[in-house]
Amino acid sequence: MKRNPHLEPEITPYGNCPRCRELVLFGSTHCPYCDLELDQEEIFPSVIVNFVITQAISSANSIRTFDMGVIIFIGMIVSRYFVNYGLWVDIGLSSFWLLPLWMIVRWYFKHGRWEIDDEEYSHAKKEVRAGFMLWIGAHFFNAVVILYTHKATPLFPPLAPHM
Ligand SMILES: [Zn+2]
Repeated sequence: MKRNPHLEPEITPYGNCPRCRELVLFGSTHCPYCDLELDQEEIFPSVIVNFVITQAISSANSIRTFDMGVIIFIGMIVSRYFVNYGLWVDIGLSSFWLLPLWMIVRWYFKHGRWEIDDEEYSHAKKEVRAGFMLWIGAHFFNAVVILYTHKATPLFPPLAPHM
């Protein structure tokens, strides 16, 4: 499967030095801060934790940039007041905006379930949750406007009766 750069951004692997806890590039022979000789097997678990956290945060930041799109989405909803798009065009345009929501749901499945006590990670989770509420709100507003605008238009017009 193709790698999604928003969900799986490229990460340089870092571990923590067992003595001074500073971040060290995985594969380094010595800690650049305290000069301790590094045992790769010993620092490996911290490499995994750092990788998971960094990827989750980086992915969350990337996904949050889509939140700006909500302005265009709201603009489109408001423009219905002036333009009548037709019901199916409305539904088509709206489903495009499900994409950011879909990315957020995928983020949760991929990055949202770690029990890691890290301030930045908790913050990223909160930010993604805020984005989720934002898009749910926008879609709810959109659905109400569609129903209101097209309440006179049946989704499937009844067939003409046989003569
Ligand atoms: Zn060190």
